[in-house]
Amino acid sequence: MIQIAKVILKENIKSRIKNGHPWIYENEIEKVEGEYESGDIVDVFYHSMDFLGKGYINNNSRIRVRLLTRKNIKIDKEFFVEKLKKILSIKSKLVKDTEGFRVVFSEADGLPGFVVDKFGEYLVIQIGSLGMEKLKPFLIDALVEVLSPKGIFEKSDYAAREREGLEKFRGWIYKNGPELIEFRMNGLVFYADTLGQKTGFFLDQRENVRLIKDFVGGKEVLDVFSYTGSFAAHSLKYGARHVILVDYSKRALDVANMILKKNGFDGKYELINANAFDFLRKLYKEGEKLFEVIILDPPAFAKSFEDRRRAYRGYKEINLRAMKLLKEGGTLVTASCSRVVTEQDFLIVLYDAASDAKKKIQILKRGNQPPDHAPTLNIFESFYLKFFIFNVDSEKLLAIQ
Ligand code: SAH
Repeated sequence: MIQIAKVILKENIKSRIKNGHPWIYENEIEKVEGEYESGDIVDVFYHSMDFLGKGYINNNSRIRVRLLTRKNIKIDKEFFVEKLKKILSIKSKLVKDTEGFRVVFSEADGLPGFVVDKFGEYLVIQIGSLGMEKLKPFLIDALVEVLSPKGIFEKSDYAAREREGLEKFRGWIYKNGPELIEFRMNGLVFYADTLGQKTGFFLDQRENVRLIKDFVGGKEVLDVFSYTGSFAAHSLKYGARHVILVDYSKRALDVANMILKKNGFDGKYELINANAFDFLRKLYKEGEKLFEVIILDPPAFAKSFEDRRRAYRGYKEINLRAMKLLKEGGTLVTASCSRVVTEQDFLIVLYDAASDAKKKIQILKRGNQPPDHAPTLNIFESFYLKFFIFNVDSEKLLAIQ
C-alpha cells in the first residue's frame, strides 16, 4: 500500500484553519513526513498530532495544501459523488428559472480549485490546481454519474494555472458538444461561448440582472462591459426602448448579436466595439448624448491587494463618467467583482465619484452572489460580487426642493 505523506502544522497557527478555511500556507507547516510529489494527497495533522484532514499539496504554491475533507476517508470517485450530491441537494432548492447554474463553486463548495457550470445538458469545468488536475479522472466520472451530461468541456485557460505549474487547456474532455452551448435563463435564450471568457457565460449576475426590471421600461440603456449582452437582453425583455452595448471583445459582441437576434430584439440595439474608458471619455467630452440607464459591469480591476489602488481609480473613473452621462433622475446599475475590493471600499469609491460629479446617489436595490455562488463566511475570499442600482440626482435640484 502506498504510504500517504503526513503534513504536521506548527503549534501557533491561526484559528482560520480550525474554523473551516481550507488553505494551509507554507509558513504554517512544521514538517512533512514521508515521500510525496506535488499534486499528491496528504494527511494533515495539528501540532498535537490530532488529525485535521486530507488535501492536496503543491510545493510550487504558497498555499502549500488545500484541504478537501476533514474526515479520514479515501479521496476517490465516491468521495466526489457524495460531495456533488450534497452540493446539489442544497442548490436544487434555491436555483430557479434557469438551465444555467454553477454546480461547483470551488472552495466555497468544499472543492478547492474546481469550478463546474451547467448550461442546458452540458457542463463546462475549470481546474485551477495541480492537485485537482491529478484527480481529474475521478472528477469526470463523478460528474458523469451524478449529472449524466451530454458532454463536458474543460475551459482551464486562465493565468492562475501557470502558478501551479500547469499548462492552459481548452477542449471537450467527455463526448462532444457545440462551440456555443444554448441554454435558457430568466425566460431568455443564451449561449455559453466555449471560446469566450471564463466558463463562457457570467452566471453570477443571473439574479442581479432581474433587479433591473423596474428601471428600464421605455428607456434608452447603455450596457458597458456588455460581454455577450446578458444585461442588454434582459433590458429589452423588460421593455427598454433601445440598448447600446460596449465591449472591447469583438467576439463577445458577435455572440451578443446572435443572442439578441435569437430572442427577437432585432433593430433595438447597437453594438460598439471599443475600450469602455475611451468610449465614456469621448461621450463625456462631446457632452451631447444622455442616457436614462447606464449599466457598468467591468471585469475584476484588481487581482491582488497590491493592485487595489489602481482598481479604485478605475471604478471611480467609469462611475463618475456614467453619473455625468445620465439624465436627471437616471439609473446607474454598477457592479464590482474584484475580490480584494470590499463592499465598503466600493461604496466609498462610489461616494467619491458622486461628490466629484456633484450628484446625490441613492441605493434603490442591492445584490450580491446568487445561491449557486454562495460565499462561505469561513472563507472570506469567496465573497466577491457587489451590485447596486442607484438613482442619480444632481445636488442643485436637491437644494431647491
Ligand atoms: N455584463 C456581462 C459580463 C461582463 S464581463 C454579463 O453579464 O455577461 C466584463 C467584460 O468587459 C468582458 O466582456 C470584457 O471583454 C470586457 N472588457 C474588459 N475591459 C474592457 C475595456 N477596457 N473596455 C471594454 N470592454 C472591456
